[in-house]
Amino acid sequence: MTKLRLAIAGYGKIATTRHLPAIAAAADVELVAIADPRATSSDVPHFASLEALLREGPEVDAVTLCTPPQVRSAQARLALEARKHVMLEKPPGATVSEIAPLLAVAQAARRTLFATWHSRHAPAVEPARELLAGRAIKSVTIIWKEDVRVWHPGQAWIFESGGFGVFDPGINALSILTRILPRPVFVTRAELGFPVNREAPIVVGMDMTDATGLPIKAEFDFRQTGQQTWDIRIETDRGPLVLSGGGARMSDGDKGVVDAMKEEYPALYRRFLELTSTGACDVDLAPLQLVADAFLIGRRHTVEAFED
Ligand code: NAP
Repeated sequence: MTKLRLAIAGYGKIATTRHLPAIAAAADVELVAIADPRATSSDVPHFASLEALLREGPEVDAVTLCTPPQVRSAQARLALEARKHVMLEKPPGATVSEIAPLLAVAQAARRTLFATWHSRHAPAVEPARELLAGRAIKSVTIIWKEDVRVWHPGQAWIFESGGFGVFDPGINALSILTRILPRPVFVTRAELGFPVNREAPIVVGMDMTDATGLPIKAEFDFRQTGQQTWDIRIETDRGPLVLSGGGARMSDGDKGVVDAMKEEYPALYRRFLELTSTGACDVDLAPLQLVADAFLIGRRHTVEAFED
């Protein structure tokens, strides 16, 4: 089988720490170029922009976009119009409405558009989904609190308009939630705290529910120092199911049932290869829609200035 010749646009933290090892481990994918205004690679040719890469670079079949969300849509369009398959890091865009036109371009060009949700590939997610399918769910509580200075140093885009603020990690929890629950959920309340000097929230509390009235609460906080928490607790008729560590672990009552260090990114490339073999698309906007709705109905207040 010929290898998928891949370019990465946006050669920052996630590209170098997660995508590179996953690509190296994938027998049928070969990284042939990168596009980034500053970062370079000692292994493959570097271009200052995706435009330059597509114009002057080696032939590529596909592009993975690891750029900040604000520039994602224009780059996806460019790549799809050049008849390249496209993998989008999460979130798939800065707005919900920019995705449908991209899907139309992909389908017209018979190229893959794959909106990834890496957290859905955490080891406890599918086991949780299967267990919950056979139980009555009473409530869900998400606590997603991390220190932005530790996990996102120097990433100014995250607090700019379209950068999502604390929803950048929070959307990972929402991607798990929308995978493991049996019914679609929607937002009923949100409180968004914006640092007085920033354009995106640093703390969010939100309530969601489903057609049966299931109570779902989420707390996202980027100001957490000390212990970091990425937990989802689901009360069920057979006791609590708790996903912790972003979905790496699961306990069922007092029994630990999953505790694994499974890499999430190799599964993304396996899925991408499957999709590109037929030019199919895989785009689920449910987590992005929840974030958009929280912005839409959320009450806003200002909190202390954030200095990096
Ligand atoms: P990052 O470290 O800031 O990397 C983004 C890179 O894209 C930077 O090198 C940036 O260059 C470059 N860039 C900006 N505009 C560009 C353009 N027009 N063309 C090409 N490159 C451009 O951010 P990251 O943490 O990797 O996050 C990127 C995306 O991955 C985000 O959507 C994030 O949600 C997602 N993600 C991140 C993590 C994580 O833990 N970090 C985990 C999962 C998913 P400059 O710095 O010079 O602007």
